[in-house]
Amino acid sequence: MKKYDVAVIGAGPGGMTAALYGARANLKVAMIDRGVYGGQMNNTAEVENYPGFPSIMGPELGEKMYQSTTKQGVDFVYGDVQGIEVSGQDRIVKMENEDDNILAKAVIIATGSDNRKLGIPGEEEYSGKGVSYCAVCDGAFFKDEDVIVVGGGDSAVSEGLYLANVTDNVNVVHRRDQLRAEKILQDRAFKNPKMNFTWDSEVTEIVGDENKMTGVKVHNKKTGEDKVVDAAGAFIYIGNIPNSKPFQDLGITDKDGWVITNDKMETSASGIYAIGDVRQKELRQIITAVGDGGIAGQNAFEYIETLKAAAVTE
Ligand code: FAD
Ligand code: NAP
Repeated sequence: MKKYDVAVIGAGPGGMTAALYGARANLKVAMIDRGVYGGQMNNTAEVENYPGFPSIMGPELGEKMYQSTTKQGVDFVYGDVQGIEVSGQDRIVKMENEDDNILAKAVIIATGSDNRKLGIPGEEEYSGKGVSYCAVCDGAFFKDEDVIVVGGGDSAVSEGLYLANVTDNVNVVHRRDQLRAEKILQDRAFKNPKMNFTWDSEVTEIVGDENKMTGVKVHNKKTGEDKVVDAAGAFIYIGNIPNSKPFQDLGITDKDGWVITNDKMETSASGIYAIGDVRQKELRQIITAVGDGGIAGQNAFEYIETLKAAAVTE
């Protein structure tokens, strides 16, 4: 089994920062991800609220963070983590193949969250055939076409604005008559002639011709009216669910699966920290994931120093 001081699970902005802090404290750090480093930043068009970069594309910011991390000697390990086993002072990060398991003194969970699905007929069938959860990945396929965006939060509005640059018309279908998104995004969206809004409405089905989607069925909750809105694409941004299933047996999550920590990013399991979007927290953004990462990296270092000091006095 490969041995590290710290294993960081997830290479989004939180995980990359935690790994950077650990490595700069001279710890041997593995940063594990089942996908491309960068996390949700890979699904983000323009980031305007990360200081130092007045405007930067999400994947580019991810690339820059990765360079900062690997420059400090962090090992990037590709793999899907299945769980964490606690054995005395050892923490074993369990991988799909037992031979790939990683032994560490401290583990930092930075697995973020996944897109919530609508769970309606046609969603799965037309996923990749019009239905998308990533405007920056798929927007260009809908040049000069009409698309639907579902949701009313920061993601729906910011990615809707991105789509308005690429497509002909963006129809935001929201279940209430008010957006949840921050004011600056709302103002921009209301001013943009390519952005239209369908209020108090739920998308009940994605319809198509089997090869690709052609529209969505929409139910107006106030009037009771049902109609089909033609669209070549449907971008779904209705929030997230925590990627915490592998850690549920540790008893560190709340009833919805968000990991509970204190201000030091410690969970109730000693030597196991959690940071970023997977945490139970108020504001899920790049800057807060990065802040959590710095705190956890530093506290993991102090925890390992305590273990060493205890071993010397034994
Ligand atoms: P993530 O970025 O989600 O990274 C988690 C990583 O963990 C992923 O790479 C994943 O592959 C990996 N992982 C998960 N489970 C496992 C496992 N079992 N084994 C191995 N690896 C695993 N924030 C802003 O500040 N500004 C914005 O403009 C902005 N725009 C956004 C636009 C969209 C469309 C979305 C969805 C989010 C946006 N956000 C924005 C929010 C921001 O992206 C997140 O808050 C941030 O990425 C969270 O970072 P994280 O490190 O906690 O997790
Ligand atoms: P969110 O804030 O949870 O918003 C989800 C939206 O989808 C809400 O408008 C919600 O409606 C709606 N919704 C939820 N379930 C639904 C369902 N079953 N059917 C239809 N609509 C549904 O999620 P988010 O917008 O993805 O943002 C997630 C986090 O990332 C937030 O912390 C956000 O601040 C951050 N983020 C930041 C930026 C930025 O800083 N520019 C950009 C993107 C994301 P209600 O409003 O009625 O609840």
